[in-house]
Amino acid sequence: MYNRLLLVGAGHSHLEVLRQLKEGHRDDWDVCMINPSPYQYYSGMFSGFTEEIYTEGEMRVDLRKLTKSAGVHLIQKKAFKLKAEQKKIVCEDGSVYPFDVISFDIGSKSLPATFEDTIARTIKPNYKFPDQIRRLRETNKPLIVGGGAAGTELAMAVQAYKQKHNIPGQVRLITAEKVMSHTPKWVSARMQKLLEKKGIRVWQDERVEEVFEEFVKTDRGNRVRHTGVLWLGGAIGDPIFENSSVAIDERNFALVRSTLQFRDYDFIFGAGDCTTMIDFPNLPKSGVYAVRQGPVLWQNLRSYLTGQPLESFTPQKNALYILSTGGKKGFLVYGPLSSHNQKAWQLKNKIDREFMAKYQ
Ligand SMILES: Cc1cc2nc3c(=O)[nH]c(=O)nc-3n(C[C@H](O)[C@H](O)[C@H](O)COP(=O)(O)OP(=O)(O)OC[C@H]3O[C@@H](n4cnc5c(N)ncnc54)[C@H](O)[C@@H]3O)c2cc1C
Repeated sequence: MYNRLLLVGAGHSHLEVLRQLKEGHRDDWDVCMINPSPYQYYSGMFSGFTEEIYTEGEMRVDLRKLTKSAGVHLIQKKAFKLKAEQKKIVCEDGSVYPFDVISFDIGSKSLPATFEDTIARTIKPNYKFPDQIRRLRETNKPLIVGGGAAGTELAMAVQAYKQKHNIPGQVRLITAEKVMSHTPKWVSARMQKLLEKKGIRVWQDERVEEVFEEFVKTDRGNRVRHTGVLWLGGAIGDPIFENSSVAIDERNFALVRSTLQFRDYDFIFGAGDCTTMIDFPNLPKSGVYAVRQGPVLWQNLRSYLTGQPLESFTPQKNALYILSTGGKKGFLVYGPLSSHNQKAWQLKNKIDREFMAKYQ
């Protein structure tokens, strides 16, 4: 029988695996977790942290504490290469860890390789978030690249922070499509108006092509001045899978079956943003699904380790999204329903705090 389980990344689904192990639901397995930081930061609270509603301690899980109580050995490293056939993982410092069964929940990247040597900053892996946002929110013309939920929410949070502290200047946002382009047109239009009302300067349908110290150049020939660039232009897969023999999609995400096993390997599992479900290739990269996959991932890891049949994960049709819009107001979207008010933010606050309470 297998007994060495290696968890790579402390994403949402793996937090649930740790919680279950802590509850004592385990056999005689040797479980290790590889994660570059001793903390897992929760993106649902990033906007609230930016506005100083939450402290840093409130938006992160202490992995040293959680792994200790779960009987899991925490290896504070970044996994770099998967040698699937040899059942080994190589970390950035060259160290090698063998496993019988491995599971990935490492999230995604956001900064494309072409911009890695520029002054553009990324919050991924997510432990980079507090330092990046602390620096950016103090400056006059912070520029956010990306008009999806993350970019839009953080632009409004930085604006709220600047207003609260009377920091002059204006938040800027450039997006290659419309803001919130993955939502119905009326949601996108409402969000656009809201950003304008808050004094955020928005460039839509415009792509950043070059990043310089003091300005960026767009494909429309505009030069947009900035005092710092935060890149939130959509999820890209970590290169870890690219040079291994596992099947990936066109954005480098590992292809997984409904059992959350990699397409060609029964002993490799994965959940959250780093994977694409073969049966649901268009499922958004969103924490909602990473959370929902957690219990199925746990159940299937356990079943695989004990030789039991596995179950399937089926994503829900409609997911509830609540974006914080600043000043403790929220924009709620659920299927065709939407509302923008304090109640929506209060609901988000409740959901986020309850989620964190399970793992802190
Ligand atoms: C500002 C912002 C707000 C958001 N708000 C929401 C929201 O309200 N609701 C929602 O559903 N989604 C939201 N999202 C999207 C959400 O953050 C992601 O979809 C979600 O975090 C993905 O979860 P995950 O478990 O896949 O990975 P993550 O939460 O990203 O966790 C991955 C973990 O793996 C670690 N890791 C990374 N690389 C390696 C490696 N090579 N080796 C070892 N460990 C590694 C990281 O350090 C991290 O701890 C938001 C995103 C942002 C940026």
